[in-house]
Amino acid sequence: CGIVGYVGHRSAVEVAVEGLGRLEYRGYDSSGVALVGPGGELAVEKRAGKLANLRSALMSRSLPEATVGIGHTRWATHGAPTDRNAHPHTDCRSRIAVIHNGIIENFAELRAELEDDGHKLLSETDTEVVAHLLERHAADGLAEAMRRVCRRLEGAFTLLAVSADEPDVVVGARRNSPLVVGRGEGESFLGSDVSAFIAYTREAVELGQDQVVELRGPGITVTDFHGAPAETRDYHVGWDA
Ligand code: GLU
Repeated sequence: CGIVGYVGHRSAVEVAVEGLGRLEYRGYDSSGVALVGPGGELAVEKRAGKLANLRSALMSRSLPEATVGIGHTRWATHGAPTDRNAHPHTDCRSRIAVIHNGIIENFAELRAELEDDGHKLLSETDTEVVAHLLERHAADGLAEAMRRVCRRLEGAFTLLAVSADEPDVVVGARRNSPLVVGRGEGESFLGSDVSAFIAYTREAVELGQDQVVELRGPGITVTDFHGAPAETRDYHVGWDA
């Protein structure tokens, strides 16, 4: 339901939780974050219920000093609102974490294919297949893996992914579901709407349909699902946003 992504120099957990707080107005039943430390430590925390449940879970454990991360508030469509079904979802190796808004219409077919291939899926969501499909293409790098995976997905989705193998990268993708980029000084943001990052920057980049964005440090690269450079539109978010 709500999505935040961050690459920069701030505490990623603070940016993610602050952004999720600003997206609370949209309604949700669960929330979660994935953080990638500079040495590739991937930490995932997720909880059913209010954001306060996630906050206290995060307070009671040690986290990597991450400046890269993603955050999600879920409005369940497939699978009950439980801790296990909350996002992020991870691959078999727990090296890739994914969050998703929307519905993957062909998830049942993809899940059967992955299970035949030996993948163990742990949740009842339509989302989890994406983490396992990304795992298959992990050797291509996260952005190319995302492009390949998106070409197989049907439905409406905003997806963000991080990988322990690329500790300075967040990748996003969208089809029929919103995703906006925020451009900061030496940092970049992703949000399901601008309120996710409005506390930090008002310089935004609007993504088009069927595009993949890679945040790598302050660099922002946008392509279509086949890797061709894509047209984007920069705009300034007014004070009434
Ligand atoms: N379909 C996904 C789920 O049920 C994502 C729902 C959402 O947009 O939050 O987990």
